[in-house]
Amino acid sequence: MTDIQSIGVIGAGQMGNGIAHVFAAAGYDVLLNDIDQDRVQAALKTIEKNLGRQVAKEALSAEHADKALARIKAAETINALSDCDLVIESALENLDIKKAIFTELSGILKKDALMASNTSSISITGLAASTDRPEKFVGIHFMNPVPLMQLVEVIRGIATSRETFETTKGIVERLGKTMAVSEDFPAFIVNRVLMPMINEAIYTLYEGVGTVESIDTALKLGANHPMGPLQLADFIGLDTCLAIMQVLYEGLADSKYRPCPLLVKYVEAGWLGRKTGRGFYDYSGDTPSPTR
Ligand code: NAD
Repeated sequence: MTDIQSIGVIGAGQMGNGIAHVFAAAGYDVLLNDIDQDRVQAALKTIEKNLGRQVAKEALSAEHADKALARIKAAETINALSDCDLVIESALENLDIKKAIFTELSGILKKDALMASNTSSISITGLAASTDRPEKFVGIHFMNPVPLMQLVEVIRGIATSRETFETTKGIVERLGKTMAVSEDFPAFIVNRVLMPMINEAIYTLYEGVGTVESIDTALKLGANHPMGPLQLADFIGLDTCLAIMQVLYEGLADSKYRPCPLLVKYVEAGWLGRKTGRGFYDYSGDTPSPTR
């Protein structure tokens, strides 16, 4: 197994801040990078707030939280990640953006460093092929919100080595999380099952079968889901939901994965859910209010 201590995280959005948080809390040193420096500063504030919540709930001691926060540093450029043992990419769910990041990283990282993507759906084999080290490339798919969710889905690309896989397994254990292994097919396991359900909930809204409120109440109370599917879609981000449906639709060439036109329209409008303040709910007031 490769010895891993320093972690680079690329993309400081909803997921990137959570990934930095859990690695730092497990004693790793973290460098956090984003093309937008404001996102890194916002992420550091979010991590501080979320560590504070864990202290309030007595899940962490104040000393442990302070040490974790001190282990996370902003990396203004991707070049600053050159000494990392493992870099996890968590930028937008877009093939071209991810490939460009990994191609650039190939010229920067030391030879034995590992690379991983937090992609929700994109081929790990394809991303690995854009690097100089496909055998050292793996999918490490965290769940949102990362500090609270127990699962990490680990995806082996066709070229991922046994050693890379074993190292990844050790990392997931050190994070105190539970691993589910998925083979590398579109959207893996979690989103292969979850996203068609969310897409179907959006069709149910689109066809007027129910309102936002009735659809979410039906699934919460009728199927015992902790969150309604439309609430969950807003939480994930509607751009990410659409990108995943497109990968399923194109990757499996089956019309049952056709993204709902209403989802496409919301993304075109820039109504991406919680992160933009509006999606199937409006988040401008004290409590989210349904928009349809
Ligand atoms: P987000 O929109 O909150 O954050 C994406 C971040 O990437 C932004 O801060 C953006 O500035 C940055 N970025 C864009 N291009 C970049 C580049 N070239 N270099 C560096 N940074 C760049 O999105 P998110 O919800 O955090 O999703 C990130 C990834 O995690 C996606 O691949 C997504 O599919 C995956 N994911 C999301 C969820 C979820 O529930 N949202 C769950 C698991 C995995």
